[in-house]
Amino acid sequence: MARRAIVVGASVAGLLAAVAVSDAVDEVTVLERDVLPRGPAPRKGLPQARHGHILLTSGLNAIEALLPDLGLRQRVLAAGGREISLTSGAVMLGPEGWFRRWRHDSHPLLTCSRDLLDAVLREAVLDRPRIRLRRAEAVSLLGSAERVMGVRITDADGAEEDLRADLVVDASGRGSRALQWLDALGITGIREEVVDSGVVYASRLYRMPEGAEEFPLILVQPDPLDTTPGRAAALIPIEGGRWLASLSGTRGAEPTSDPAEFVRFALGLRHPLVGRLLSGAEPLSDAALSRSTRNVRRHFESAAVWPEGLVVLGDAAAAFNPVYGQGMSVAALGAQELRRELAATDVAAPGVARRIQRAAAKAVDAAWSLSSSQDRWFPGVLGDSPTCADRVLTRYVRRMTKVATSSYRVSVAMCNVTTLQENSSRLLRPSLLLATLNGPVLPPLAGPPLTAAERAILHGLDRTGGAVGGTGADTDGRIPSSG
Ligand SMILES: Cc1cc2nc3c(=O)[nH]c(=O)nc-3n(C[C@H](O)[C@H](O)[C@H](O)COP(=O)(O)OP(=O)(O)OC[C@H]3O[C@@H](n4cnc5c(N)ncnc54)[C@H](O)[C@@H]3O)c2cc1C
Repeated sequence: MARRAIVVGASVAGLLAAVAVSDAVDEVTVLERDVLPRGPAPRKGLPQARHGHILLTSGLNAIEALLPDLGLRQRVLAAGGREISLTSGAVMLGPEGWFRRWRHDSHPLLTCSRDLLDAVLREAVLDRPRIRLRRAEAVSLLGSAERVMGVRITDADGAEEDLRADLVVDASGRGSRALQWLDALGITGIREEVVDSGVVYASRLYRMPEGAEEFPLILVQPDPLDTTPGRAAALIPIEGGRWLASLSGTRGAEPTSDPAEFVRFALGLRHPLVGRLLSGAEPLSDAALSRSTRNVRRHFESAAVWPEGLVVLGDAAAAFNPVYGQGMSVAALGAQELRRELAATDVAAPGVARRIQRAAAKAVDAAWSLSSSQDRWFPGVLGDSPTCADRVLTRYVRRMTKVATSSYRVSVAMCNVTTLQENSSRLLRPSLLLATLNGPVLPPLAGPPLTAAERAILHGLDRTGGAVGGTGADTDGRIPSSG
């Protein structure tokens, strides 16, 4: 008998899940309620695409492993996106000061518009032989608490239909109704964890000035242990010679969509670098706002009862404060687990859905511990307060962060964790413990590590008259990675 799978949602998690399951079944139907554009263009069901999206190294590697013939990196670069090394191509202010830029490239990040990334993935996935797209909205699950047998859909013309499948993957994003759908089958009591620091995002496109094609990615992060609300900024190079500037603020420091406020907000961060760059850059769009930022995790993997035939992946299972850039990578890692499990077991074998759910939860664990452990410190956060263990670990990681600003080796170890390539428990290994106890090996940088050419671009754009923060203390850019 022909094996069938249904995937709900045709965004990153859904498309990658469709690829992952396609080797194990005869037909995969991807259900999407939006009309999908041809090529990179905005759509209703992906409002977050107006905000900066960075694909972490782990996500990039996972997508390349799932779609080896796609050449994601090359396609994105050919369309004008950038591959940026976190250790050499990013200018980053962390809670303990500016990170140095090392001569050695590692931890590549992909930057481009979210619309471009999705268009590349759609083109690669939806043309595959066993995968077909259907424009429809999933409205409920079919089956029982023992086995999900498919989904009920509402078609584009409003007609209802029941679609049968051996496996249903819910990849319908933050707004997923999986909890309600399971409730209707008699499965209740699934724990939902929320850590909500009230982050609001405001993003705006700018024209990148001539000569800035290789300008670094700029990240100015808040200090969660400061008792004031956190403000952050990312200046991300994307295709079309543009910068996508994303500002964010936790509860009490939210940015607004007022264009006059945008640069002022960026100038008020822990360092005004992004504001100074934007003060003379030409805006190409209004500011878009997003409040879909709370960390929310549904613990499907530990449900007392779990039906055969259902897996929940991507934001539908766990969504994170976007400041940490984790969502797409966790979705890709989850899809990898789906493929790994189905390569070993028949799609309809007993217990396979539960095993996939548990395996995917491991990728969630790493991302969740990073984002929730930091967000718990911001004033007015909704969710559990930091525990005693959190406090001890936070002090240790803070000290290590300080050491990482001056040591290539420690910085790489931390990048392995923040890009979700290693679990945070790796930060407790003896060599790192020792380096952390010994403290920083170089003095802190007095300002952002920009090269002379980059400083010239900053001066060319800066309309603040140098009133906010000076450039005199800026260091000379990259240094050898011997620390
Ligand atoms: C402001 C902001 C900035 C972000 N920045 C980053 C970043 O830098 N890096 C990063 O990795 N992540 C980032 N993210 C997170 C990232 O956008 C998501 O993790 C990513 O889109 C994966 O989500 P998904 O595929 O699970 O769901 P989504 O992208 O939300 O897609 C869900 C899809 O399902 C469809 N759908 C929903 N319900 C139904 C239904 N019932 N039937 C049929 N179709 C349905 C929707 O139309 C949509 O296409 C950011 C998020 C936000 C809000």
